[in-house]
Amino acid sequence: MRGLSKSRNHFLVIVGIFIGVAVLCVVAYYGVYVPYVESHTTTNQRSRILMDTTVDIRVDARNSEELVNQAFAEIEGIEKSLSRYVDTSEVSKINAHAGQWVEVSQFTIDLVKEALRISELSDGAFDVTIGAVIELWGFGTGDYKVPSEEEIVQALKTVGYEKVEIDEAERKVRIPEGTILDLGGIAKGYAVDQASRLLRKSNAKRSIINAGGDISVIGRRPDDTPWRVGVQNPDNPADIRWILPLEDSSVVTSGDYQRYFVFNDQKWHHIIDPRTGYPARELKSVTVVTESATVADALSTAIFVLGMEAGSRLVEEMAGVEAIIVSQDGVWISPELEEQIL
Ligand code: AMP
Ligand code: MG
Repeated sequence: MRGLSKSRNHFLVIVGIFIGVAVLCVVAYYGVYVPYVESHTTTNQRSRILMDTTVDIRVDARNSEELVNQAFAEIEGIEKSLSRYVDTSEVSKINAHAGQWVEVSQFTIDLVKEALRISELSDGAFDVTIGAVIELWGFGTGDYKVPSEEEIVQALKTVGYEKVEIDEAERKVRIPEGTILDLGGIAKGYAVDQASRLLRKSNAKRSIINAGGDISVIGRRPDDTPWRVGVQNPDNPADIRWILPLEDSSVVTSGDYQRYFVFNDQKWHHIIDPRTGYPARELKSVTVVTESATVADALSTAIFVLGMEAGSRLVEEMAGVEAIIVSQDGVWISPELEEQIL
């Protein structure tokens, strides 16, 4: 009996010590470590022109200046690999050797696969083989013109995401001869995601990256409320029509006001319907909110082409995806987002 109560006392002492240590750890974490990190957090915010747009990055971290530099370097590296307007990029290599297998980095394979997944989900409304048609209209080069019907018919023959082949084991991609790959509808979102991932890995406390309307945030604002992201009125882009609360998520907008030229009193913009070869006309802007900026980017372009009915249906079918769709004569906001709008 005595032996038993002695070992019970020992047990209680050990439990007591254990609880004491745990309490000390918690007190040290919240009393010493958290204030230490807070007082050593600095903010750095800068803008640069990259990917043919203004990229704005704000980071709060102990080494915020270094992290902002690293985030810009990440975006710059991705642009060099994925832009078809950079001669040495992997996409340019794929295009220059259309008809042949071309070895590329794993991330190009991953991104092309993701692009094809969105093509399937959108029934071809999103199609990265649209390059020849984009070229015809002069988007990218700035040499704008309204092509002839015949030119459009010819260019459309080179479009078809089903014909893109991927050899995962050999890390190779092949597109048909004459086809031009254009990742312009998804690469900006991907670059924003990769920069965000780098910041997260480097323990950034909070950040906001805005690459010409492709936005991704980490954490909350310094006052512990969600970030607030403005969505432009497509009829007057200087006017912010909605404000969305955002926390560890992304928001991307595709709009007919973002890149266009005017000819014969008509606005000809850069989001092309792969079924017709002409700018998609039903919608004015599509804003997609979801965790991944890559998905948000591709989906906003896809929904812009799909139009109100099929576009809103796609949003409703996808878990974790919210959207604002503005058409020529109305607005649709997914129910969950409608409740959150400020
Ligand atoms: P975004 O601004 O993200 O909507 O993307 C527009 C860009 O994506 C254009 O400048 C083209 O480079 C490319 N693009 C245009 N139409 C399509 C389409 N239907 N599918 C995929 N990419 C497209
Ligand atoms: Mg897009």
